[in-house]
Amino acid sequence: MSKKLIFSREEMTKLCIEALSSRGVSVDEIAEIAYLQQSRYTPNIDMAVCRESVLKVISLRDIFHHVLLAVELDKMAEKKLFEGPIQDIIENDLGLFGVDEVLGLDVARLYGVIGMTNFGDIDVNKRGIIRKLNQEGKKPGIVHTFLDDIVGAIAAAASTRVAQVMNEELAQQIPHQRISLFDEIE
Ligand code: MG
Repeated sequence: MSKKLIFSREEMTKLCIEALSSRGVSVDEIAEIAYLQQSRYTPNIDMAVCRESVLKVISLRDIFHHVLLAVELDKMAEKKLFEGPIQDIIENDLGLFGVDEVLGLDVARLYGVIGMTNFGDIDVNKRGIIRKLNQEGKKPGIVHTFLDDIVGAIAAAASTRVAQVMNEELAQQIPHQRISLFDEIE
């Protein structure tokens, strides 16, 4: 039987949820980060939209690959499966090791430059589950070097999507009027 390499969006969502949950992260905890970030800019953010946005983000093939890879890299470091200095560098989450952030940025950039700046904010301020992952990752035998960035990046992408959804709703509420690029010179 040939190996299954291509998964449907529904399957990818399910596998991402399972992979994240196996490392102690839930969809709701990621949605909470998106909620905390967006509620600073827009009042009355709906938690359901944050949750829906996280599910949308993890249904994307690129993100699915990132999530599974990040989870496996941390697990491999916990089992000391890397050879040479990179084992200690990943295991100890060396501050100057930036490949985990690169993977995070690669996820966040799917939602443009706002996604990337939102990722930077989440990475620096470490709220909710990100803080928890960071603290747990300092304990012996636990490695969260890649996981914290991938979770932060999903939250950043979801947060950016929430802003886009809210702005679209806002635009729809404004009464129809003639729109021209040249109004100001008429
Ligand atoms: Mg990290």
